[in-house]
Amino acid sequence: MRVLVIGANGKVGKHIVDKLRDYGHEPVPMVRDTDQIPQFEEKGLKPVLGDLEKDFESAFYNIEAVIFAAGSGPHTGADKTILIDQEGAIKAVDRSKYFGIKKFVMLSSIAADRPEPTPDTIRHYMYAKHRADEHLKQSGLNYTIVRPGILTNDAGTGKVKLQNHVNGFEEIPREDVAETLSFLLSEPKALNESFDLVSGEQRIQETLTN
Ligand code: NAP
Repeated sequence: MRVLVIGANGKVGKHIVDKLRDYGHEPVPMVRDTDQIPQFEEKGLKPVLGDLEKDFESAFYNIEAVIFAAGSGPHTGADKTILIDQEGAIKAVDRSKYFGIKKFVMLSSIAADRPEPTPDTIRHYMYAKHRADEHLKQSGLNYTIVRPGILTNDAGTGKVKLQNHVNGFEEIPREDVAETLSFLLSEPKALNESFDLVSGEQRIQETLTN
């Protein structure tokens, strides 16, 4: 499928672009700065410009699926978290619906399905992710929601724990998150399902076999 990767210039997003190709998809990186374009063109890809705080409708031209991997990051205030992680994601879902997108995969966060109780410092973030996920579930789109634990820059192991609920806040390399999202994109057993995701013992391609 031709897959719009929202947040393609991010640390997970760059892995997603590569992993999608491994799984036979055609990534279309969405970036918000022209300086971010050449790195993808060097890989033979055709990025599109789009900013979640502005207009990004043109990014959906000829797109079949969407992976949302954007976020305001840990160094911005709650206002940006609401604007990007919540409202940006909600707008992306609504545009996907409008353009008849076949599948929407959301990169959420562990505990976003149970935002209470969380420490005051991250409660706005958990609620932003929670509201975006709930909006996607209610949208009528075909979806998969993945809630990873704490992200690391370690090399991927290809082995994870993917379950509807995982206790605690374990870690997972960004590369393994990207591969799991790419795998689940067209996996029938992941249709309209939500998962927690941390490092584990099961090969990514075998996670939904039982
Ligand atoms: P990242 O490197 O900060 O990437 C976030 C991407 O979002 C960046 O490419 C950024 O664009 C893009 N973005 C921000 N504002 C945008 C806007 N207005 N329009 C379009 N794109 C915009 O983050 P990451 O490490 O890849 O993580 C991805 C997400 O995983 C996080 O945002 C978070 O929600 C989620 N998550 C994180 C953790 C964790 O432990 N850190 C755990 C669970 C889930 P620029 O490159 O132009 O800045």
